[in-house]
Amino acid sequence: MYDNILVPTDGSKTARHAVDQAIDIASKYDATVHVLYVVDVDATSYSLGTEQVDRIRQGHLEDMPEVKEAADEATSYVADAAAEHGLTVKEHIRVGEPARAIRKFVEDSEIDLIVMGSHGRSGLSRVVLGSVAEKVLRRTRLPVLIVDVHGESDVDEAEAE
Ligand code: ATP
Ligand code: MN
Repeated sequence: MYDNILVPTDGSKTARHAVDQAIDIASKYDATVHVLYVVDVDATSYSLGTEQVDRIRQGHLEDMPEVKEAADEATSYVADAAAEHGLTVKEHIRVGEPARAIRKFVEDSEIDLIVMGSHGRSGLSRVVLGSVAEKVLRRTRLPVLIVDVHGESDVDEAEAE
């Protein structure tokens, strides 16, 4: 049923809540786990000049160690957890608007299930779904498992990164 499962992550604690479910399903189906981090150059968390933004857009992450490190940290958290369970994992980094990049990735690959968090870095519990989660749901025909971070009693807004 599922051979390739996509776990998009922005590296936040909230996104990590989806990981256990993704790993459990992947183990049951012996699926490959694909971890995708999208470098969102428009996000305010990066203080980058226009020249740097252009370099990143062209895919030159090697010039920007902080950006590369954030990406690697985000994907390796998921990759390490999946590897611990004996799963095959592939880490992917893309640049762009996250929902668009996720959809593009899915179109170009053999993904058959997406497992993601209801919220991410901004983690606003007022909204039912974060904008990336909502756009992915709307724009893909694949099954999407949205793990609601507020379903976990030990997570609250203050904890969200
Ligand atoms: P918003 O971004 O709308 O302010 P939010 O950050 O709380 O709200 P989303 O960004 O929609 O919520 O995050 C929901 C899920 O989308 C995350 O748990 C993660 O799985 C995925 N996601 C969000 N941003 C990225 C990204 N840059 N790269 C990969 N996956 C992402
Ligand atoms: Mn977000």
